[in-house]
Amino acid sequence: MTEVSKMRRKLVLGNWKMHGSIGANGQLFEAIRQHASQNDVPVEVGVCVPAPYLSQAKNALSGAAVAWGAQDVSAYASGAYTGEVSAAMLAEFGARYVIVGHSERRAYHRETSELIGAKARQAISAGLVPVICVGETMQERDSGIAEQTVRDQLSDVLAFVGAESPDRIVIAYEPVWAIGTGRSASSADAQTIHAALRACLREHGTNMEQIRILYGGSIKPNNALGLLSCADIDGGLIGGASLSSDDFISIIDSACRALGSETRVAEVANAGIKS
Ligand code: PEP
Repeated sequence: MTEVSKMRRKLVLGNWKMHGSIGANGQLFEAIRQHASQNDVPVEVGVCVPAPYLSQAKNALSGAAVAWGAQDVSAYASGAYTGEVSAAMLAEFGARYVIVGHSERRAYHRETSELIGAKARQAISAGLVPVICVGETMQERDSGIAEQTVRDQLSDVLAFVGAESPDRIVIAYEPVWAIGTGRSASSADAQTIHAALRACLREHGTNMEQIRILYGGSIKPNNALGLLSCADIDGGLIGGASLSSDDFISIIDSACRALGSETRVAEVANAGIKS
């Protein structure tokens, strides 16, 4: 393992999107909770649930080594913003993470880098950890501008956030074409983009390269180990597979198994890229 990756604790974070019911959630929370309590899990685990289930998450996961959080937050601190939930409210409630800039919100809610940056800023000020998502479309990948696209997205958001200490932000690289499609990026391709994002972080401030960068996009039990073993992949943002306790737990186990093998996999991936 590299010196740098030793300092970045892997994170496996579920994104339930707009799925769930009180009954189904109960089983899922219980399985995750039990897995965390029966195994000394060396990676960090969390779930980002729909807002109405935050209270259920808080109760079900209380005292467990499992973090929980939200999937969106207001860009404003407080005021006449009907329907919005502020970062301070989420923090007061005990949430740790909040996803910002997910490609579904960029696409369906026309979220701009400025808005995403403002949401991230609010989250950080309230003591939450924003999970800032970036990712290219298939068209951008086919045009050969995947790396530039995600670097630009990251820089654009960081322009509103400023330099931050590594424990206050998480980045998620989620290629749009891989989300919910069953078609994941290869480990080598994902590692290449993660290395570019890490270089971009390094340009933004001292220690910024220590910020964790998750991969998201059709991570499943059968591809998790390869992806999570890459040197610059510090964990996963898991959509569909986080709704199945068996699949989610299997991915957590893969993240644990990946510890220690990052350098080897990076070498294999880099060899593949050069040839
Ligand atoms: C996501 O929506 O953040 C995601 C990664 O989805 P999936 O794992 O289903 O591709």
